[in-house]
Amino acid sequence: MQGGLPLRPLLLARLRPMKIDAALLDILACPACISPLRADEAAEELVCTGCGLAYPVRDDIPVLLADEARKPA
Ligand SMILES: [Zn+2]
Repeated sequence: MQGGLPLRPLLLARLRPMKIDAALLDILACPACISPLRADEAAEELVCTGCGLAYPVRDDIPVLLADEARKPA
């Protein structure tokens, strides 16, 4: 038996779509304008329904920092 390589969670994470818990999304709000956020699964971002800032999601953790957000076009 070969010494099994450890699983690689990082690699596995790339094979499945972003997964944000709906209950979590419910309680999150845009730090800039306190509007609700919606998940953009294709872009792996949380997009503010108010000001339009798009927050990145890293390893399923939303990064709700205005400094990290992508501004709307
Ligand atoms: Zn906002």
